[in-house]
Amino acid sequence: MQLYNTLTKKVQDFQPLTAPGVTLYTCGPTVYDYTHLGHIRKYVNDDLLKRSLNYLGYKVKHVMNITDVGHLTSDEDEGEDKLEKGAAKTGKTVWEVARFYTDFFEKTMRLVNIIPPDITAPATKHIDLMIDLISVLQQKGFVYMTDEAVYFEVSRFPSYGQLSGQNLRDKKIRARPEIRFDPGKKSPFDFALWFKRVGRFADHSMHWDSPWGDGFPGWHIECSAMSMKYLGETIDIHTGGVDHIPVHHENEIAQSEAATGQQFVRFFVHHQFVQVDGQKMSKSLGNFFTVNDVKQQGIDPLSLRLLFMQTHYRQIINFTWNSAKAANESLKNLRALTAAFRTQTERTALSQEKLKQLDDYRAAFMQAINQDLQFPRAVSIMWAMTKSNLPSTDKLDLLLEFDRVLGLDLQNVITETIPPAILELANKRQAARAENNFQTSDDLRQKIEAAGYVIEDTPSGFKVAKK
Ligand code: AMP
Ligand code: ZN
Repeated sequence: MQLYNTLTKKVQDFQPLTAPGVTLYTCGPTVYDYTHLGHIRKYVNDDLLKRSLNYLGYKVKHVMNITDVGHLTSDEDEGEDKLEKGAAKTGKTVWEVARFYTDFFEKTMRLVNIIPPDITAPATKHIDLMIDLISVLQQKGFVYMTDEAVYFEVSRFPSYGQLSGQNLRDKKIRARPEIRFDPGKKSPFDFALWFKRVGRFADHSMHWDSPWGDGFPGWHIECSAMSMKYLGETIDIHTGGVDHIPVHHENEIAQSEAATGQQFVRFFVHHQFVQVDGQKMSKSLGNFFTVNDVKQQGIDPLSLRLLFMQTHYRQIINFTWNSAKAANESLKNLRALTAAFRTQTERTALSQEKLKQLDDYRAAFMQAINQDLQFPRAVSIMWAMTKSNLPSTDKLDLLLEFDRVLGLDLQNVITETIPPAILELANKRQAARAENNFQTSDDLRQKIEAAGYVIEDTPSGFKVAKK
């Protein structure tokens, strides 16, 4: 597969270290506010990458963190802790805030049919790992301590800046007078590995014991610690938004490679933003929409996948409701086509010409994915195939095969040909499950089965089929 690597700023041939395995680490959410469409694009892109690799025969092991502590309101150790700030705003505990927004994140991921990572790692459950890693860095002479924090000393890591192509000397010091820097910090590029529970953090409610005193970890250290624990010192692919390039990922590289002496990541893949009126959709700007807003507009959140796939992951998307509505209509059409293909069950032998046509569509689809994930092209090949003169049964097979990558849950279309009475039972059962009413849900399943159907739960709901 050809993949753009931010490390080399080139589209390169991707080969995993130990094929067919691929180690994939994707930076996860900071759970202090609602997951919005910008995040959804990022996780959809991760999911498309992972599904593509699996489709091409690789076996992906995927780890993602959940930042439930330590991410300050800026990436550079300035401001307040986002979680603590979120808690103060709502009158909840930090733990409650993290739980609430993690649940919202996971619900959102299910609605856009994202395959969950093999390991989802909350930072608060990995504090020991982070302490161990900081200790190694301390033994190797990469850290210093001030009254407020333990810092990684960037000047001791000469290749710092390789990812963003910035030379430390050229990097402007963004002195912002309203922000109070730690006076003991030697350089503004040094970054905190551990904050002490003193001064501006004296009331920090999440805190742990450490060799450097009671406190909490800096944000960047969690990704290095968890990536290395679950995937090894050198991994194949690491993803994040383009905002992670200059600080978060530079810092991850520095602290990981300083600790191990090994290359940390072989391919860095960065996704572009979703914007609204020319500005990044973000929690801090308050210009964001969530799946709830999408549903309120009568749009199926799953159609966001189709919307995002229609732009290459390295291009900015300007979000508009009209484009979301158009994607929703496209998804409806695709479902209708799938349902229509299903009605034909008689299979006819394919002529040589048709066999070749089928192979050509498959090859073109694969090639699009192979060329740095050209999903806009893959989607148009899919449409062209559905409109071809191939028999419906073959179109359906290939469509469902493509959908292993696209993730539009077309399998689920089968429910549309199920009698309304059965669908009603299935919907009631889903509602009962949502309320954890498992007795009712079991009873409804039995009724559905007694009527000759089977029901299966899927990330975006359920699938009903004739037995
Ligand atoms: P956060 O929860 O803000 O730390 O963001 C989680 C991930 O979503 C990061 O990789 C960000 O780069 C990405 N992200 C945040 N906002 C957007 C946006 N508007 N468009 C695309 N990706 C975003
Ligand atoms: Zn990260």
